[in-house]
Amino acid sequence: MPDLFVDSIMDIPLELLTRKNTKGIIFDLDNTVTEWNNPEIKHEILQWFHELPQHGITACLLSNNKGPRVMDAAEKLGIPYVAKATKPRRRAFRRAMEVLKTLPEETVVVGDQIFTDILGGNRMGLYTVLVSPISKREFIGTRMMRLVERFALRKLKKMGR
Ligand SMILES: [Mg+2]
Repeated sequence: MPDLFVDSIMDIPLELLTRKNTKGIIFDLDNTVTEWNNPEIKHEILQWFHELPQHGITACLLSNNKGPRVMDAAEKLGIPYVAKATKPRRRAFRRAMEVLKTLPEETVVVGDQIFTDILGGNRMGLYTVLVSPISKREFIGTRMMRLVERFALRKLKKMGR
């Protein structure tokens, strides 16, 4: 289970994270920051990333995708990256924290996949934020997606009991 669930990264409550002493955020790339394998990053997303330093937060991309694709996105966002990351393995998250120079309790992980981003983050004791995947959201529409997610999260909660 994620610690927090939001529709888009732009809905992440940065104030709340700052209050709990967050220094760094590890971001998944595909379907979290961009559409799957689409190099384009929306203007409002770029804007949002540029505001992170004002909250005392540094960011890093952590993607299982190939180097050039991740590097291109990282350059556009102006943040470092770790590619071919083998999430949910712990090593991937350790590498990202080395880049961020943060401790687990100061680090948040944000991603759209429960079995890579959230599972890996939880195993490392990081605060985990699940987002709705961008392409599914755009494909079937946000309202429909919310229904699907509510259903999926209910199932997950039952499994957790
Ligand atoms: Mg993803």
